[in-house]
Amino acid sequence: MARVLITGVARGIGLALADELVKRGHEIVGTVRSDADAEAMKTKFGDNIHVLTFDVTDQKAILEAANRLEGSIDILVNNAGIIGPEKQSTLDMDFDGFAKTLQINTLAPLMVCQAFLPHLRKSTNPGILTISSQMGKMAYQVSDRIAYRASKSAVNKVMQGLATDLLASGIPVQLVHPGWVRTDMGGQGADISVEESASGIADLVENINIAKSGTFVAYDGSPMDW
Ligand code: NDP
Repeated sequence: MARVLITGVARGIGLALADELVKRGHEIVGTVRSDADAEAMKTKFGDNIHVLTFDVTDQKAILEAANRLEGSIDILVNNAGIIGPEKQSTLDMDFDGFAKTLQINTLAPLMVCQAFLPHLRKSTNPGILTISSQMGKMAYQVSDRIAYRASKSAVNKVMQGLATDLLASGIPVQLVHPGWVRTDMGGQGADISVEESASGIADLVENINIAKSGTFVAYDGSPMDW
């Protein structure tokens, strides 16, 4: 049984992953942004969840929540993310929206890792999984959704650096493409259900180890190129 922290558990992939991990007997520390979502998660998961309420861009709130949380965290899953602003073309960019996208998708995952590192260091089997996207791949020479793509390329680099820095501590860091998933973000025309994506990510949660640190894989464990 592992204690797994997941950011953004109130809907989408985060909610499905919490559901799957609870079914497998794990304990969840889940983050939400509103009191209403906190109550909904407590009603749904009961004693299997410990809910933390913060916006992932609010470093002070994250640190306060981390300081209050007792015990260890085994696996941290950086899941919360946004697709970015309406206008995100290189020829017509909403720069405030671009900055917010980087804040949520790139800076926040590292902020959350730093805040909860003391909890991960207390675990005998720790690990970090960050949900990235194939849309960040440099190999795709495309220009749509460039703020989102850039934020995911950048989080790949940040997490690769973190993987290197945590190697000596025995804390593996892995990047995960969750598939194209039917959520508010992915849309109803996407390839796979949240359950299928979550089941694959749950397998990755259960099997992460130091030999996999610094790798980028899809939800089914297949290797991804950068
Ligand atoms: P959803 O839009 O369905 O859910 C996004 C989640 O992130 C919500 O729980 C939301 O909370 C949370 N969130 C957003 N902004 C913040 C914030 N500032 N602070 C705290 N929480 C926040 O997205 P998905 O479930 O589809 O996506 C989850 C992850 O998977 C993202 O990182 C996404 O980039 C990635 N991904 C998704 C794909 C897909 O096809 N769906 C494909 C590739 C990657 P709230 O409910 O409060 O808004």
